[in-house]
Amino acid sequence: MNYIYAFAEDQTLTNQELGGKGANLAEMTRLGLPVPAGFTITTAACRQYLASAKQETGFLEDELMKAVHILEEKTQRQLGNTKQPLLVSVRSGAPISMPGMMDTILNLGLNDQTVIGLAEMTNDPWFAYDCYRRLIQMFGDVVYGIDKPIFEAALTALKNKRQVQKDTDLTLVDLKQLIETYKGLYVAAGQYQFPQSVDQQLRLAIEAVFKSWQNPRAQTYRRLNQIDGAMGTAVNVQQMVFGNYQGQSGTGVAFTRNPATGEPGLFGEYLLNAQGEDVVAGIRTPEPIATLKAQLPVIYEQFKTIANQLEAHYRDMQDMEFTIEAGQLYVLQTRVGKRTAPAAFRIAVDLVDEGVIDRPTAISRLKPTMIDGLLHPLFETSAVQQATQLLTGLPASPGAATGAIYFDAQKAQQAHEAGEKVVLVRQETSPEDIDGMVISEAIVTSRGGMTSHAAVVARGMGCCCVVGCQQLQVDYEQRAAHFAGRVLKEGAIISVDGHTGHLYLGALPQQTGVHETTLGTVLSWCDEIAPFAVWANAETPQEVATAFEFGAQGLGLVRTEHMFFGPERIFKMRQMILATELADRQVALAALKALQINDFKQIFSLAEERPCTIRLLDPPLHEFLPQNEAEQAELATALGISLAEIKRRIADKAEINPMLGHRGSRLAVTYPEIYQMQVLAIAESALAVQTTHHHAVAPKIMLPLIGTATEMAYLKQLLQQTIDDYLAENQQQLAYQIGTMIEIPRACLVADKIAATADFFSFGTNDLTQMTYGFSRDDIGHFMPDYQQQGLMPAEPFQTLDQDGVGALMQLAVQKGRQTKPDLSIGVCGEVGGDPTAMPFYRDLGIDYVSCSPYRVPSARLAAAQSQLTLAD
Ligand code: PEP
Ligand code: MG
Repeated sequence: MNYIYAFAEDQTLTNQELGGKGANLAEMTRLGLPVPAGFTITTAACRQYLASAKQETGFLEDELMKAVHILEEKTQRQLGNTKQPLLVSVRSGAPISMPGMMDTILNLGLNDQTVIGLAEMTNDPWFAYDCYRRLIQMFGDVVYGIDKPIFEAALTALKNKRQVQKDTDLTLVDLKQLIETYKGLYVAAGQYQFPQSVDQQLRLAIEAVFKSWQNPRAQTYRRLNQIDGAMGTAVNVQQMVFGNYQGQSGTGVAFTRNPATGEPGLFGEYLLNAQGEDVVAGIRTPEPIATLKAQLPVIYEQFKTIANQLEAHYRDMQDMEFTIEAGQLYVLQTRVGKRTAPAAFRIAVDLVDEGVIDRPTAISRLKPTMIDGLLHPLFETSAVQQATQLLTGLPASPGAATGAIYFDAQKAQQAHEAGEKVVLVRQETSPEDIDGMVISEAIVTSRGGMTSHAAVVARGMGCCCVVGCQQLQVDYEQRAAHFAGRVLKEGAIISVDGHTGHLYLGALPQQTGVHETTLGTVLSWCDEIAPFAVWANAETPQEVATAFEFGAQGLGLVRTEHMFFGPERIFKMRQMILATELADRQVALAALKALQINDFKQIFSLAEERPCTIRLLDPPLHEFLPQNEAEQAELATALGISLAEIKRRIADKAEINPMLGHRGSRLAVTYPEIYQMQVLAIAESALAVQTTHHHAVAPKIMLPLIGTATEMAYLKQLLQQTIDDYLAENQQQLAYQIGTMIEIPRACLVADKIAATADFFSFGTNDLTQMTYGFSRDDIGHFMPDYQQQGLMPAEPFQTLDQDGVGALMQLAVQKGRQTKPDLSIGVCGEVGGDPTAMPFYRDLGIDYVSCSPYRVPSARLAAAQSQLTLAD
């Protein structure tokens, strides 16, 4: 097996072997684009290196020499040659992009001799020595772990001494002196020497890149993005081209579309007379790419053509790095560009409209979690108008967030652990800051552009981020920041608007809402292919309206008990519960019925002809009763009975384990009048809405916690009789159904018998999970972290369906239920109804719909459609 391949040498190799960067360099070379020559050391070599006890590159030696030789022939230059020195970059490139997480070394091949050769060859000694001092700095950092700021401090000290502002104001003599100072820093840091042997430089650089696969920030990034840690990184060795060479030189990063909004057209930044690191690290604030059009029009057009060619070739938005060396354009890398959630949706729809991809491809490129990004908060417009604006930066990643400012990742983490919401404010971020960035509500930097580290990482995480706030100065010593004349100490509260780039003093209230019009288009495509429908769990008119706005095709769970908690209602509910005589209970029920009718009318009119599944009263009654004495005394007065009597009646309702006690349909076995009241309220309001709104109403009455076929049959008969008597009395007709939740394991086991009388099933996976595991759904938080730490439970089963256990019961229930009634309508309305990972399972189960909370409806629609696409693969 070979470990090293020249770009485009072997067409059969994939990302897995060459890494994303290597594969794309090979592909671009094949397309005939101006790519500097080079070779890729495969991920297999990295794995081999990391697995061997001694960690050495001896096994690569022969191939490496051969590859260098071929590269030397191609470039007509030689590594270590003092007349025509070949300089190379050594870069990491994993199969899945991990921007900035691993190491890179540029200008490799320079030493005390070859630098003279480079100076002569380019006729630009200043440039040559600047390259050399950059190499020594990078090499020290990457290979020997000598911190960058140590070198930066030496550079700043020299500039101060010479009383100059810019690096370019230093003289050649200064640079030579700086190089000697840098070499001294190696010795001071650990008796290291900068290697004068270029072969040794290359070997050490390759090893350092291999090792950087295991560095803590790369590991954190992989953990956050669920990237397999066993893959390893490839290493790309490529001829250097110089953006810091002469007049017409520069370097930049550009996207084929705007990665924040998705807007078509070249979008990016560049710096003249700079190397790539200067742009990516955000150390200097670059110019927008549009300016290049004016500065170097021919190159701009050439680059635009290449960008279009690459996007058409890869059929997706590209993120490219380019360098201009003495008027010659080179493309150094291309990859599928990371983008914000709104941009992802817009790009998907635009590419379909442009005929580049088809709808299934567009759908499969989007992630259900991105939709949360679209539903990100915005600040309230009126609050923004009155707020004190501190300053404005570049809106790098959308969102609206408020928090206390902290100036380093560690302090931010401590504050977060103490329960504070934090905003990380820095001059610029670097990959070391990743742990602090992850927990921040927002990230703000004073330097850097839209492609700086902070911007790229925040966009990937969906975290609100503003970069390049030129007027912001962070004083790390004094722990204070200067916001355009205002000084804020660490801990001060600011609000960050990632949509506009504005920063505000203090906390601003947020509004929420969808602000992306292409979402609806994509979701309508999803509905056409989804194997089942998406309904919503909602009960307030506000929730119901939101659910339909988000595209729910029905209501899968209206929990009626939520309607009894308002201040006026709870009293009537308590009156009903504490009544000792049926007649007294009936009086309270009559009052409740009037309230329910009102609620149901609103729901039915909003739902129009969509199915509405109304679940009858479920919780144990004690949940409605007051627990503290003051409230109990108040209730006693209101009911005209003594406090002692109230206490006695409340005690009478107490249960040892109420979740397994007198709740759900069991209540109606004891107090049939409660469910009778509810079904009459449903029937009466349905008829009223049918008359006033001129559309049919389709109520599905759902019984909770049915465990036996006898309960089901008994209650169905009782409630049907109640409704039919009412309809007959009023000479009216109503198409209603009476079905059940399937949420007790026993119900799954006898589902064939329950289906004999149930008109439909809906899985209540919350209770079904609780009772299958014997885990209390309210108490699991205390011990689940221990399970997860021990690796005993990969996911929290109330959020992610336990397909093996709970899922097996569901399978049984579906099979048995449909054995009795082949057309039985079956849904899922527990929390995992919106679990994207469970959608393929639901597809195979053959259910009719899932039902989830309104804000999860859009992501469930996408995930449902994707489950159908994975089947087609
Ligand atoms: C369930 O148990 O899954 C369910 C939807 O009902 P609730 O959460 O109200 O018990
Ligand atoms: Mg339940």
